[in-house]
Amino acid sequence: MTGNDLVRSDAATLRDLFARGEVSATEITRAHLERIRSVDPRIDAFHAVTAASAEQQASDLDRRRALGEPTGPLGGVPVAIKDVLCVRGVPATCGSRILESFVPPFDATCVERLRAAGAVVIGKTNMDEFAMGSSTEHSAFKQTKNPWDLQRVPGGSSGGSAAAVAAFETPLAIGTDTGGSIRQPAAFTSTVGLKPTYGRISRYGLVAFASSLDQAGPFTRTVKDAAIALQAMAGADPRDMTCSIEPVADYVAVAEGGGASIKGLRVGVPREFSGDGLDADVRQAVKRCHEALQARGAEIIDVSLPTTDYAIAVYYIVATAEASSNLARFDGVRYGLRDAEATTLRDMYERTRDAGFGDEVKRRIMLGTYALSAGYYDAYYLKAMKVRTLIRRDFDEAFRKVDILVGPTTPSAAFRFGDKLDDPLSMYLSDIYTVTANLAGIPGLSLPCGFT
Ligand code: GLN
Repeated sequence: MTGNDLVRSDAATLRDLFARGEVSATEITRAHLERIRSVDPRIDAFHAVTAASAEQQASDLDRRRALGEPTGPLGGVPVAIKDVLCVRGVPATCGSRILESFVPPFDATCVERLRAAGAVVIGKTNMDEFAMGSSTEHSAFKQTKNPWDLQRVPGGSSGGSAAAVAAFETPLAIGTDTGGSIRQPAAFTSTVGLKPTYGRISRYGLVAFASSLDQAGPFTRTVKDAAIALQAMAGADPRDMTCSIEPVADYVAVAEGGGASIKGLRVGVPREFSGDGLDADVRQAVKRCHEALQARGAEIIDVSLPTTDYAIAVYYIVATAEASSNLARFDGVRYGLRDAEATTLRDMYERTRDAGFGDEVKRRIMLGTYALSAGYYDAYYLKAMKVRTLIRRDFDEAFRKVDILVGPTTPSAAFRFGDKLDDPLSMYLSDIYTVTANLAGIPGLSLPCGFT
């Protein structure tokens, strides 16, 4: 196989080739590192490429395979990690100046499990600062381009992970999704993006944005690969008490049953997901998807999620409130950047945070602090929490009638750089179809169903 064949293979294929001894982990790793060297200067998906440690990991795998040891469900498969997750010995910047020099001394649980499954960590991917954004334009370091059209954004906040998979730099990348940051960039780059149920994958080693919403998950080019990656990462973790202790189901078996009949599957189509803001081409693609499901025997059922109208408002109160609290720890004392000129403690806090955080992060901290402050707490935060419960109930109600909901991931396809940068509200509105899943804690999968 040529290097070009290897980078165009999906994770399951690479794993099988490696397990059968038809190709070494070193060859797979080198092919992808070479691909990154040739295309990433134009895409800018990666914040850091960990070539030396990847080669080391690959040669360890090759040695173990030669000894006849099991190679694992992701044996020899390259994986790129969003820079909000900790990888031992590699800076975890979160796309922020304030953490530019922070080097975690440990692996996030999901990274540890990917390695245990045989995956090879090839680098860290670019992202919106602290995962706040929908275009990756809020990264303090660089702008990741959409591989399909370099004038357009890859989506965000996990734009680097999405672009890396779309550009064949890796068959698997990990992102995080607080309000859509896996699904929206997956939709913008024509990749598969899975946000698991809240708590399905441990958040240990995931730098918190909004703790009650954050969830890590995979980007891949096939649904089966997403199932394999989820299977490897999911499961209880004593280091994260919000991590579910539910047994892990056999997702791979389900995905492999892809040819099985969907006759009688009840597919809900939320009325509120085809409103005015939805572009005609997206509407058309989703309609074709519904027709395809129907042609295969699924039953299409009209459902309503009436609280959808409030979702963006609720999300941006809950997420910013939690962010303002989570980001208080970046004070120049414990992690990363510190202003050395300051003469008093207060001055040091102020100067460090002013220089370390970008505009969008400061905007969120101010919004969240306001929503939590005495006198406004009841009117904003408490009210938002109540409406969050109503959103959850809408889904409970819908799932009494249907097995799954199928609708658009985003109101439009990928937009151009700068289009929404000066208008935070229009940027926020690109999450309209994704934030409800996080507020309700349910899983969501974005997969290609058309191209524009
Ligand atoms: N775009 C949303 C935001 O800016 C979602 C981000 C995310 O899921 N991390 O908050």
